[in-house]
Amino acid sequence: MRTLDYSDHRRDLGDNRYVYAVVSRRVGGLSIGINLNVDKACNFDCPYCQVDRTIPGGPRAIDVDQLKAELDHLLGLVSAGSLWSIAPFDTADPALRRVGDISIAGDGEPTSAKEFGAVVQAVGQVRAAHALQQVPMSVLTNATLFHRPEVQAGLEALAALDGHIWAKLDAGTEPFFHQVDGTSLPFQRVLDNLSWAARRWPIVLQCMFHTWEGHAPPDEEIAAWSGRVRDLLEAGGALREIQIYTVARSPADARVGPLSAGQLEEIATMVGDLGVPLNVATGG
Ligand code: SF4
Repeated sequence: MRTLDYSDHRRDLGDNRYVYAVVSRRVGGLSIGINLNVDKACNFDCPYCQVDRTIPGGPRAIDVDQLKAELDHLLGLVSAGSLWSIAPFDTADPALRRVGDISIAGDGEPTSAKEFGAVVQAVGQVRAAHALQQVPMSVLTNATLFHRPEVQAGLEALAALDGHIWAKLDAGTEPFFHQVDGTSLPFQRVLDNLSWAARRWPIVLQCMFHTWEGHAPPDEEIAAWSGRVRDLLEAGGALREIQIYTVARSPADARVGPLSAGQLEEIATMVGDLGVPLNVATGG
C-alpha cells in the first residue's frame, strides 16, 4: 500500500530492488521504505494509486537476504556519513541527516507477501545491528488480510519490535469503498480486521479523500466514515492517529482530483471530538 510520502519524492538508490529512501521533514530525517510488492500486484485498484503499472514489475518472491543486505548497506552509508554526498541526499538539510523511520510498504499490499513475517524479523535484526532500535518501524496496509494466521504472526512480530500498523480507511459505506479502493472485497472484512488490530495495539488510520469527476465526497459518506471510526473506538479499539489527506499530484485516473485544505479540515471536524490526534495533510 502506497502513501503520500513515497509517491512525492525521488527514491533512487541505485540498483536496489526493495529498499528506498527519501528525506522527509515530517519524520525529521531519512524515511526508509521497504517495497514488498516488486511485482506491483495489489488486491485493491484504487483510482488514486500512484504506482505506474504500465511498466511491468519484477518477481513476486522476495529474496529476504538481498533485502537485508540492501537495508544494511543503506544504514551503513548513513552511519559512515557517506550517504550525504550522494544525490539526491546531498542537498538534505543537515538537521535531517539521520534515520527517521522505516516503513514496510510496497507497490501493492505488503501483507500479501508470504515473506512478510520474515521481513519484519529481518528489518528488526538489521535495525538492531546498527543500534537503531529507537527508530520507529511501521507497516502500511489496506487491512484486507489480517484474518490470515501468517499475517497475524507478522503483525505480532512487528508489535514485539515496537512497530505500528498504519491502515487505510477511505470510506464509510460498502459502495463507496468499492469505488474509491477499486475492489469487490467485502467492506466488513476490512472493518473487522481493523477492529481486531485496534483492540490489540493502537493503530494509525490513513484516510484518503479526493474529488471524483469533480465532486467532493458526499456529506453522508463522510458522516458514515466518521461512524466507522467511532465504531472502532466503541468496540474497545485504540487509535494512535488519524491521517486525513488527499492526492498529491494528478493520478492516472483523470476522474480523481485533490480536495482543498479547507475541505480536508472540514472532514477532520467530523472526528475532532474523539480525542485521537489528527494529522491533516494537503496535496503538494
Ligand atoms: S492499496 Fe491502493 S494505493 Fe495502495 S498500492 Fe494498492 S491500489 Fe495502490
